[in-house]
Amino acid sequence: MSVDLLEHFPAGCTPRPEQARLLAGLADALAEIADDRRAPRVLLVEAPPGVGKSHVAMTLARWSGDAYLLTSQKLLQDQYEREFGAELALVKGRDNYVCERYPAAAVPTSRGACRRPRGPACACPYARAKQAAVNAPIFCTNTAYFATLRHWHTEHLRRRRLLIVDEAHNLESQLVSVFTARFSHDEMREWFGRPLPRLARADEYRPVLAEYVERLEARRQEIARALDVVHPPPLPDEVFLEAPLTRDEHDLLEQRDQLDGALARLTFFLDAEDREWIVRYPAEPAAALSLVPLTVAAMAQSLLADCAEVTVLSSAYLGHREVLAECFGLDAGGVRVFTVGSPFSLEQRPIVYRPVGALSQATRARLEPAVFAEVGAILAAHPDDKGLIHVGSYEMGRRLVHDLAARAPRESRRLLWIDSAGGKQPALEHHRASPLPTVLVSPSLREGVDLPDDFLRFQVLTKLPYPDLGDPWTAARQSRDHRWYAVETAKALVQAYGRSCRHADDHGVTYVLDGQFARFLQYYRVLLPEWFLDAAVPAVRQLARDDGC
Ligand code: SF4
Repeated sequence: MSVDLLEHFPAGCTPRPEQARLLAGLADALAEIADDRRAPRVLLVEAPPGVGKSHVAMTLARWSGDAYLLTSQKLLQDQYEREFGAELALVKGRDNYVCERYPAAAVPTSRGACRRPRGPACACPYARAKQAAVNAPIFCTNTAYFATLRHWHTEHLRRRRLLIVDEAHNLESQLVSVFTARFSHDEMREWFGRPLPRLARADEYRPVLAEYVERLEARRQEIARALDVVHPPPLPDEVFLEAPLTRDEHDLLEQRDQLDGALARLTFFLDAEDREWIVRYPAEPAAALSLVPLTVAAMAQSLLADCAEVTVLSSAYLGHREVLAECFGLDAGGVRVFTVGSPFSLEQRPIVYRPVGALSQATRARLEPAVFAEVGAILAAHPDDKGLIHVGSYEMGRRLVHDLAARAPRESRRLLWIDSAGGKQPALEHHRASPLPTVLVSPSLREGVDLPDDFLRFQVLTKLPYPDLGDPWTAARQSRDHRWYAVETAKALVQAYGRSCRHADDHGVTYVLDGQFARFLQYYRVLLPEWFLDAAVPAVRQLARDDGC
């Protein structure tokens, strides 16, 4: 059988050479799958920024006529909606839709009339969007929401011909979050009467938590009764339901939803004794307790195999095949890779290596002043450009901003410091709207942000993005598999680099200040894609020449 994917390329667009090459390889693989049931059914598509992976994904989805198309970033979901909205059915979480029963108030459907006792069975924008997606040839949604629907809401989502996971380098961390049992400080006080004790191993929480299951179920029934009380029986349902939720009702519904989620995850944790779980319980007084599955191989395997006949995982870079296969419980032989280089010249996306020393916990105090001085010098060298500074953590960002305020007050006034996840969106809007050469500072803008052209002419990678070993899950994952840790670092490095040049007429320079960069390239060259090495290796060589080595 032969497959012609180009026929299904989105209308009105002409495939770029890189897209055509990827599609030709994928067409051969799909033809082989049609002819041979033992042919690899997990196809990895790796393409750097600018190639147009979303067009490749849409071509595959259109060809199949029966696809799930999952994205992990809101930015990407918006892009699919903007560019291909008419061809796909997008569904978002309940909170993104407004209940139609209350035209005078913007009540999200998660708190709509049907969520109340004896509420109406109607079909709101959320239910319609979900049903439309279920019936549509292309069901597009967020990866975490999709996994939640399947697993926790046990929605029947039929097996389709194709599953495409875009930005799949995040798939493991997203599934880990979906299956984590997390209890906030307030929830523990309310449900267990006190914060749970700090125990060393997840298994030690089993007997403690098992005792509370009945109590939580009883609490759930109490909430159901309380909801009935706020709905006084003499009042006809129609009259009561016409009024939007009272504060009390809203709180009770929220508690019920939280309890439902907690009970489901708790039961899953208690039943999954055969898996290894990690305790995440920071030392701060009001910290949340999380029980985190060490791996999601079994969950990923079922997601990928049960949802579709063929799976396509797409990203700028997915890491080493064997590590990926192990992560997702796949047979490495059942995976095929399709990759292309960058469409942009090196002049458009140079890396400049200016090491100040190898940054680590041990060298931090000694080296950070030099890092901050170098950032100040780079800001001064780009007086009229907008830029982005990637810092290793919120603590490092705070120290940088504080240091520059004293060291280089003029430059420091350009900084837009993003000191929390919630500050990201307003800071990005400010950056885009401001006519001044503003510079974003954040530990979390390595991906999911598009700053083309004058929105980013330079970026600074102050520290190599090693995952934080202070996090118990990361430390446990790393101790079981050192390759995984290196691959995660490589993926984060590649994602950060990808911010610099977004399209054919764009350009941006990436400065790397951490002296671990050269060592990482030397040891883990095999983990990095060619289009990254094209820019990184000359940067390291140039420095060696400048130093006269
Ligand atoms: S199903 Fe009806 S009542 Fe429920 S949230 Fe939607 S519009 Fe409101």
